[in-house]
Amino acid sequence: MAQMTKVCRFMETQSICEEGVELAKTALAVFEQYADEFAAHIAKKSCKAGVCKKFVTYHILADKCVGCGDCMDECDDDAILGKKKFIHVIDQDECTQCGKCVDACDEEAIVMAGAIKPRCPAKPIPCKR
Ligand code: SF4
Ligand code: SF4
Repeated sequence: MAQMTKVCRFMETQSICEEGVELAKTALAVFEQYADEFAAHIAKKSCKAGVCKKFVTYHILADKCVGCGDCMDECDDDAILGKKKFIHVIDQDECTQCGKCVDACDEEAIVMAGAIKPRCPAKPIPCKR
């Protein structure tokens, strides 16, 4: 961020055309106005709005999953582990954050998370429901 600001400040004073100056000014204004958001994305690798796919993860809530398996059918990446009557688990290494499984779950057991992650089992365990 500091480097980008430095480049823009240089552009602002050294550009040979007006467009370069205006672009630099616009970028600097954006950096200033959204300083908190830039810091969160760059330093904490988190997106508070849950918009940046790279920074969100999907999880299956153990107290809601009934082990129906519908989400597994929907996942093209084979990122969901489980079997009938077991609480399913998303393998974060395989998940591509497409979000398709969320709509497949009638129990609303699959949630998206930003910096704060829900506690979930590490591997499938029998359902209590
Ligand atoms: S997460 Fe939802 S769709 Fe997947 S097994 Fe559990 S209840 Fe079924
Ligand atoms: S978000 Fe997409 S890739 Fe990840 S578990 Fe769900 S369906 Fe599979």
